[in-house]
Amino acid sequence: MEEMLSGDDLAPYRVPPLGSCWWCGNDGPLTHEHKFKKADLKRMWGDGPAPVWGDSTRMRPIKSAQRSKDVRFTPGLCAPCNNARSQPFDRAYDVFSGFLWHRPSVYNGDVLDLSDVYGENWSTQTRLLVGYLAKHIASRMAHDGYQIPASLPAFLNGADRIGDVEIVLFKSREIHQRESELDRNGIDGRSLQLLPAVGRASRSRRQLEMYCSGLTISSVGVMYRWNLGATEANSFHHQRQPPLHWYHDLA
Ligand SMILES: [Zn+2]
Repeated sequence: MEEMLSGDDLAPYRVPPLGSCWWCGNDGPLTHEHKFKKADLKRMWGDGPAPVWGDSTRMRPIKSAQRSKDVRFTPGLCAPCNNARSQPFDRAYDVFSGFLWHRPSVYNGDVLDLSDVYGENWSTQTRLLVGYLAKHIASRMAHDGYQIPASLPAFLNGADRIGDVEIVLFKSREIHQRESELDRNGIDGRSLQLLPAVGRASRSRRQLEMYCSGLTISSVGVMYRWNLGATEANSFHHQRQPPLHWYHDLA
């Protein structure tokens, strides 16, 4: 029997923490991947007051936006993988995230034109962006305690596609409305968020079979869904103008 699970209900399907780098297999020492990139955090907080970190239950100040464990995943990558090997992927993400942060008009469209983000090199750059997302998804799943799909390091190593992870773009009316309301009161309400994870498990096979989460940059986001055994999952990077789905249609 299968059922949708979230939070602590997913605990029985967790695996032991990683002992070696999930990308290259080296023993380590392992380093933390950031949940949010340094450029993101800087853009959001600048030199302003102490940042506030929140989840669905509480908000509290943190000392360092860049070093707090709140903004980092548990260690999973060796230093060379997390630094030099990651750079082209991280840079492509920084461009994407900066674009969304500074272009609130993206919300009004039904598609995101990736050539507006990256220019004529959009195809190469978008593949690198999806590489960043593959790294993020793997780090998030390992952080939450789940087995990392082999398709994610394979994609980073040059495979054509991530056959078992669907990756789509969306826009959130709820976030947009909240931002607009704060904006009317003279407050910059833009945020970066990691969505709560939802999973599906088979009790009889004692196995996680689906894991879904996402991230948002202001009111636009990326949602990903891993399905055990899938081979033909879609990722938005195969087209120049992928659709911007409504979040409420996906959830
Ligand atoms: Zn490594």
